Amino acid sequence: MPGHRELTLPPVVQRLLHTLQQAGYEAYVVGGCVRDSLMGRVPNDWDICTSALPDQLEQLFGGYPLLLNGKRHGTVAVVLEGHSWEITTFRQDGAYTDGRHPDSVRFVPDVCADLARRDFTVNAMAWSPDAGLIDPFGGRRDLAAGLLRCVGDPGARFAEDALRVLRAARFAAQLDFALDPATAAAALCCRDSVARIAPERLYTELDKLLAGPAAGRVLAEHGPLLAGALPEILPCIGCGQPGRWHCYDVWTHTAVAVGSIRAGGFDEPLRAHGDHSGPRVLRWAALLHDLGKPVCRTVGPDGAAHFPGHNQRGGQMARAILQRLRAPAYLIEGAPALVAMHDAPLPGSTPETLRLLHRRGPQFVRRLCQLKRADLAAHAQNEAVAARTAEVQRFLVQMERLAAGGCYRLSTLAVNGADALAAGLRPGPAVGQALNALLQAVMDGTLPNDRDALLGALREKRLS
Ligand code: ATP
Ligand code: MG
Repeated sequence: MPGHRELTLPPVVQRLLHTLQQAGYEAYVVGGCVRDSLMGRVPNDWDICTSALPDQLEQLFGGYPLLLNGKRHGTVAVVLEGHSWEITTFRQDGAYTDGRHPDSVRFVPDVCADLARRDFTVNAMAWSPDAGLIDPFGGRRDLAAGLLRCVGDPGARFAEDALRVLRAARFAAQLDFALDPATAAAALCCRDSVARIAPERLYTELDKLLAGPAAGRVLAEHGPLLAGALPEILPCIGCGQPGRWHCYDVWTHTAVAVGSIRAGGFDEPLRAHGDHSGPRVLRWAALLHDLGKPVCRTVGPDGAAHFPGHNQRGGQMARAILQRLRAPAYLIEGAPALVAMHDAPLPGSTPETLRLLHRRGPQFVRRLCQLKRADLAAHAQNEAVAARTAEVQRFLVQMERLAAGGCYRLSTLAVNGADALAAGLRPGPAVGQALNALLQAVMDGTLPNDRDALLGALREKRLS
């Protein structure tokens, strides 16, 4: 961890701090940027806090374009070099009666009072070149210990703002931190108040959690806490699936599957093919893939648990959950379809593979294969599972070969509409029907994708 006098600020931030200090105000960078800098990470954004009041900020930076929509809460944003830099007056929050927003804010002259309203000790540090690190709650110590701990009384802090329950899990996953036991216990007590939070906010926190390097561990350890946002988790916890395939209950299996995406690099092939939304779709699909299991569970005469229909059921649940969370449309389209097919057998022949590519396109099939790999990585590690994994790998290689060179779309068929007309077909639906029939025959392997052969077949269609 670098010494606290060595934080490297972007030149614009240095200038803003300097301007404020020159005018006689206290000013610091604060929150996530201090935390990330001390961890040697590149901060997402730089927040500044100051003793200057909003009117004073407006006056001091009057020469620049300003965004004033947060002014009532103390935030003035200065637009500089194509970016808006938020400067917020030191403030204390009033009472929270809605479990989410303070009823009022009060501007205060003391940076420590401002830090006291922040959620976790590692987020409650401020820094300036002159003063160095201001750390009244032991944030630096907790950072070194990898601990997420509430500032003040955890029960009171979660009761004020239930979003902090999810923020706790999210930061634990992003930073690979443990929750301090008192913080974890208080978060669990408050988990049901999470239901009062705007669904978009829940989505954002869960999405950040899933992208975190420690997502698998945090899901495994804190399933009950996350059930405030996703009650469907609860029946998965302890839902047994003995037998030769499994070594975890449904929830632990789910957590391990999510964690395996990053550990196994299963999202990399998606990125390599330019599928930029693929990794997010894959993470959500892994989170949701087995939520249908508890309702579909039966025990066979052999005493083993079976989950008939859990693919489709899970797909429906995934769609309902993502809609409820107001997830982006591409995720609502992408993830449930994968969930609904995650456990279906892969095509066993070239024609079947081509037909799947025809129906769904290579991007979907690629995502499906990576979901299957993540799923299998969270099974018992035995020969049967290894054989299935090898089967997915083989299929992937063959699928990519066909996706690149096979014919599964009208656009790669060796004849087109003009050829069909030249061959004497009547303009209209008959042309499309004929070409589609040829495509089916080519995918089935009963005709080669060869121009002469297909022209011959078209002429026959004219006669038929
Ligand atoms: P990120 O890297 O996600 O931006 P961050 O720590 O900067 O992480 P933000 O949500 O941008 O998080 O918030 C900035 C700072 O404001 C936090 O570090 C924290 O000090 C404070 N903060 C944000 N949300 C809350 C909250 N709900 N309750 C208390 N303090 C909060
Ligand atoms: Mg931030």
